[in-house]
Amino acid sequence: MVTDTRPTAPLWQPPDVEWLRPYRDGLSERELRLPRCSECAQWCWYPLTDRSPCHHATYLWEHVGATATLFSFTRVQRSLIPGHTEPYVVGLVLPEYAPRCRVAAVIADGVHLRCDAALELRFTRSDETSDTGPAPYPYYRLRGAR
Ligand SMILES: [Zn+2]
Repeated sequence: MVTDTRPTAPLWQPPDVEWLRPYRDGLSERELRLPRCSECAQWCWYPLTDRSPCHHATYLWEHVGATATLFSFTRVQRSLIPGHTEPYVVGLVLPEYAPRCRVAAVIADGVHLRCDAALELRFTRSDETSDTGPAPYPYYRLRGAR
C-alpha cells in the first residue's frame, strides 16, 4: 500500500502570478501541468517568456502524467532555510509524457534512490489544504514504495 505522507522538505508554493495560473490550476486538481508550444509542440519548463520558444505561438498547458524517471538528485543534509533542520532530497525528474523536461521536485524516499529510478507523482494530503489555503503540493516518491 502506498501511503501519502508529507515529505520532510520545505514546501514551495508557486507565486500568485498570471503566467503560472495554469500550473496552479493543475495543482488544485492534483495534476502536474507543464507548458508546451502550440505550434511545434516543444515542452518548455520553466517558460521564460509569455511566448513559446519559437516565438510564433502560445503555450498549451498539458497534464504530464503521474509517472516519471529520476534524472538526478541530491540530499540536502544541512538546510539553509531558516527553521528547517531535517535532511531532505530534491531531484530532477523526467515526467513520462514530457521526458525532455527536467522538473525540480522534492523526492519523499531518500534512502533507496538511484538515477533512473521509477517514480510516481503524489500530492500532500487534501485535508492539509482548503479552498483558501495553499494548493496541494506535488512531490515524487519511488513507484510502488510502501
Ligand atoms: Zn514552438
